[in-house]
Amino acid sequence: MTEKTIHFSYKEYTSVSELEPADAALLQSAREVTRLAYAPYSHFHVGAAARLTSGAIVKGTNQENASYPVTICAERILLGNAAMQYPGEGIDALAISYNSEGENDHPISPCGMCRQALLEYEGRTDHPIRLILSGQEGRIWVIPAASLLLPFAFTRTELETSTGK
Ligand SMILES: [Zn+2]
Repeated sequence: MTEKTIHFSYKEYTSVSELEPADAALLQSAREVTRLAYAPYSHFHVGAAARLTSGAIVKGTNQENASYPVTICAERILLGNAAMQYPGEGIDALAISYNSEGENDHPISPCGMCRQALLEYEGRTDHPIRLILSGQEGRIWVIPAASLLLPFAFTRTELETSTGK
């Protein structure tokens, strides 16, 4: 038996003023775009803003539905926008924020489904997506690559192996 460990490093900032100006602006965009969320059921408004390798900015917000499972998270709305508007282009940084009826003072991280979608996007563009996570205020987490949030992920490599490609 061999015991193995997975770990990764991320950075925590106490204030937006500690971020690089471009990252601070991206986080501000994510915070502001929460107003475009459609969240009449959860009242949990999520905003995401990404800076692509060209410098272009793409945004997304959660879009809920009376049939709850139809709901799409802000991150996957953003990825769809990026894929359509800037096909093939990598994402340098992606900021995620939220505005809810509770405290909005701590970071949230992507749900499991979005972690899978972010991982796929990193793979198809061959570019890591740095995540900037924060509420409307308070501390900020910066994670070097979205794939770090999904260890032992199921990826296209498995399909290529199983189909002999
Ligand atoms: Zn999600």
